[in-house]
Amino acid sequence: MSHPILAQITQGVQDSLICEMSRLAVSKKALNLAEGLPDYDPPSWVLEAYQRVLSEGKDLHQLRNTWGAVETREAVSSYYQRFYGLDYEPETQVTITCGATEGLYLALKALINAGDEVIVFEPFYEPYHDLVKSLGAIPVFYTLTAPDFQIEADTLNALITPKTKAIVLNNPNNPTGRVLSKTELQTLADAAIHNNLWCLSDEVYDQLLYEGRTFTPLASLAGMAERTVTLGSCSKLISATGWRVGWAVGSPELTHALRGLHDLSTAGTNTFFQLVAAEALNAYTPALQAEVQAVYAEKRRLALDVLLAMGIDEGKARRYLPEGAYYVWLDLRDTLGVEDELVWAMKLINTVGISVVPGCTFVQGESSGFVRICFAKEASTLQEAVRRLGM
Ligand code: PMP
Repeated sequence: MSHPILAQITQGVQDSLICEMSRLAVSKKALNLAEGLPDYDPPSWVLEAYQRVLSEGKDLHQLRNTWGAVETREAVSSYYQRFYGLDYEPETQVTITCGATEGLYLALKALINAGDEVIVFEPFYEPYHDLVKSLGAIPVFYTLTAPDFQIEADTLNALITPKTKAIVLNNPNNPTGRVLSKTELQTLADAAIHNNLWCLSDEVYDQLLYEGRTFTPLASLAGMAERTVTLGSCSKLISATGWRVGWAVGSPELTHALRGLHDLSTAGTNTFFQLVAAEALNAYTPALQAEVQAVYAEKRRLALDVLLAMGIDEGKARRYLPEGAYYVWLDLRDTLGVEDELVWAMKLINTVGISVVPGCTFVQGESSGFVRICFAKEASTLQEAVRRLGM
């Protein structure tokens, strides 16, 4: 008997290997160093904001403005002004989304037509590739090469054609851990302005920087604010992945388009955590930023212990510690002489009880030779990983 068939766009969309490794970690009772998911609560000042809203907040149960609660849009706007001197008008330029994930989807849907080419840097955050393809657009990959993963103007410009519509960027980068230099950002800006392209700048890790690095939003470069949609999220900024509160900020024209699609999809994320997010963002000062960075620097130091426990030489292991975000992007061939990342990752979960993500999910081909290890974990989890590796 014949049956109705699914939409064509679903056929190209792969199951997430990150989520699969996370599910396997649960079913095999392994340590989950796979998913970018903290195994701890947000910091105390965020939990205090939560308690304040819970006890004093009013009108917490009904949907607010679908663009986002006004308090939250104002808090996001003030965050960009405070940290980066950027002006986003809450009424016309800020949309609160169901995590940066929804922002990513809406922004691409608002910018891209079927048949358009979209520049995607490889290795890429897992969903970018399928997302672009699901819109009937063509991902054009700029393959960045280890160990520096640098963006070069000539290579970028050679990929741009009359069909190119947008550049998708993640900075600080998941999975490579790179934080782009001002020169690289200027290269991107020059290419975008010269070819009249949109830029989607996924900056969810903007605060997670190491060894005194600073962060420059792409939209802060001359001529970029009007052509850049920037994504942020409480998931990474304040370690609250379960709130599902993110945002997309950009020009009024783009925001208008994106809000129309947002109203058709989720029509708003939950009111309660939007209001907690507003309180927490307003409380986020440079002093707290330094505190958060110190906490993550310690986790990064423990990640080095994990690499050493794998038998990697210290000089080499140190070179794999990231500049930003909270992942180690480890070249298995270079460090351990291992060829097949899938086989290695499955052996690690089955015999040692540690789950990581095989790098193949961040590249186009079957294999990358890398694995991604997340260190947004309690010290005790990372220490247990060291213990298991030493057994
Ligand atoms: N962008 C990047 C680069 C990410 O790493 C993640 C989460 N892993 C997201 C977006 C999605 O974040 P959210 O939880 O806010 O949807």
